[in-house]
Amino acid sequence: MTRLAVCGGVYSNPYALRAFLADARARGADELYCLGDLGGYGAEPDAVWPLLVDNGVTVVAGNYDVAIGRGDTDCGCGYSDPRDNEFAQLMYDFTLAHTSADYAQWMTTLPTERRFERDGVDVHLVHGSTLALNDFWWESLSAEQQSLRVSQSGADLIMCTHSGLPWQKRIDDTLVVNVGVLGRPANDGRREVWYALIDLVDGRATAELVPLDYDWQAQAASMRAGGLPEAFVETVESGWWTTCLEIVPPYERSKGRYQLYRSALPSGFETEAVSWADAPEVVDDGLPVVPLFGSPMFPPRLWVYTNFHCNLACSYCSVASSPQARKRSLGLERVKALVDEAVMEGFTEIYFTGGEPFLEPDIVEMVMYATERLDVVLLTNGMLYQGWRLEQLKRLAGRERLVLQTSIDAASADGHDVNRGRGSWQKAMDGLRLAVDMGLPVRVGMTETPENTGEVEPLRALLAAIGITGKDFAVRPLVQRGFSTAGAEIGEENTVPELAYTADGVHWHPAGADVETSPDMLLAAHPSADSPLPLAEGKRLAVERFLTLRRADGSLPLVYNCAV
Ligand code: SF4
Repeated sequence: MTRLAVCGGVYSNPYALRAFLADARARGADELYCLGDLGGYGAEPDAVWPLLVDNGVTVVAGNYDVAIGRGDTDCGCGYSDPRDNEFAQLMYDFTLAHTSADYAQWMTTLPTERRFERDGVDVHLVHGSTLALNDFWWESLSAEQQSLRVSQSGADLIMCTHSGLPWQKRIDDTLVVNVGVLGRPANDGRREVWYALIDLVDGRATAELVPLDYDWQAQAASMRAGGLPEAFVETVESGWWTTCLEIVPPYERSKGRYQLYRSALPSGFETEAVSWADAPEVVDDGLPVVPLFGSPMFPPRLWVYTNFHCNLACSYCSVASSPQARKRSLGLERVKALVDEAVMEGFTEIYFTGGEPFLEPDIVEMVMYATERLDVVLLTNGMLYQGWRLEQLKRLAGRERLVLQTSIDAASADGHDVNRGRGSWQKAMDGLRLAVDMGLPVRVGMTETPENTGEVEPLRALLAAIGITGKDFAVRPLVQRGFSTAGAEIGEENTVPELAYTADGVHWHPAGADVETSPDMLLAAHPSADSPLPLAEGKRLAVERFLTLRRADGSLPLVYNCAV
């Protein structure tokens, strides 16, 4: 058996390289390899060279080493976004200026790939991939793209580093290992960096990806002393990438803390015009990048469909609810767990909706539990406040962090009942008055159609007479979803994500939360009834989908915000 220890991307981090040498030896490595990109990022390029030479590390040149050796004007990393290139250039200029001539000359002697056989295994070491020195071999590449890279080599074992994130996969008959990098953490919130231990036995290779603790404080101090940007130091200290994000594919980027350059957030992007919810403030913490979640592009608002059945069957219900709708109740225990997950994931408000939530026997329990933890809006048609439900409703009187939201479409019965059913306007108005009299905070949303546009002002006046004024009345456009065959056409390409959680799965937007009529908006179904999708994964999927869909300028127009 032969044990190889293989690292990549040293990025001028002698502290991590020393830890690698010690750890690899302690784990019995017979041979040590480095897959290149010796410089960049850190402040001490020359400190790396003697460590490699004195410890017998066999090195493959990366694009950085080829560029420094030749004295090129840029690193040739292969970024395509100008913001990525700006940071790459900054790093490269520093590295070129601080690399000794002898070290640079030594880099010119290094091969850009190596191939050898050990214990019956055909081993191929590359920097980027088998296609190109600066090719990014991501885990999320399609099967076809993976096979293409493997077929260029035909080796039993291929190892690479350039993309900077560790992974391993058997592709066809080949084990492919991206060994990660020593120079910076793997965008996973951990300060450790990664390398690979490879065991070669009788023609077969197995790999272990090793997280490596090292003196990251010393590396951070060295970078600060060298005058490198604080954003680079932040990554060493936090484990999250803060630069060169645009090259990272949606899957990998959705797993990090940051997704967009701050400058990519469109200016003048507001939700106030169509929503009660204020656009989340994007705090300027000095970093060049921001998380998508919590920005106006992905508000921290969770929609929870407690159920889908309803006492009404409105002609334009966007989720096709009715008394006959498949019930799809989440139940009290799942809702409580979901509230806990929402708090943990940084959501600041929950909208309970359906169907009619008051058809759920535990709706008040759900609301009580949630309002102890975050802001809650309970959407109800307001028609069921009688008997035991009225007694339950009384428990919510004076409850803080709660708003009841009800739809009224006209100032008189005709304009409302035509779409929502005979007698529904009167019952909804009675429910509104009752809730107001009980001291419950109430607001009203009106669905505007070509037929009821003239009702906006009369309804505003009617509501004002019972104390519902100002921003507590809002008008939303009709959308073509569910039962509705008219109105605005909305989809993932013209709405920002507002995560909606149902008994079926996790959905891009509440107006598309019915999987039967809006299958295109399903992010993922629950694996099974007993194994619901964790909210964190739903959130990640929304980020991944957003990054896949977004336009080149990073924007998505906000056509319809469902918080009204
Ligand atoms: S719009 Fe609301 S009240 Fe009407 S059917 Fe749908 S869920 Fe029920």
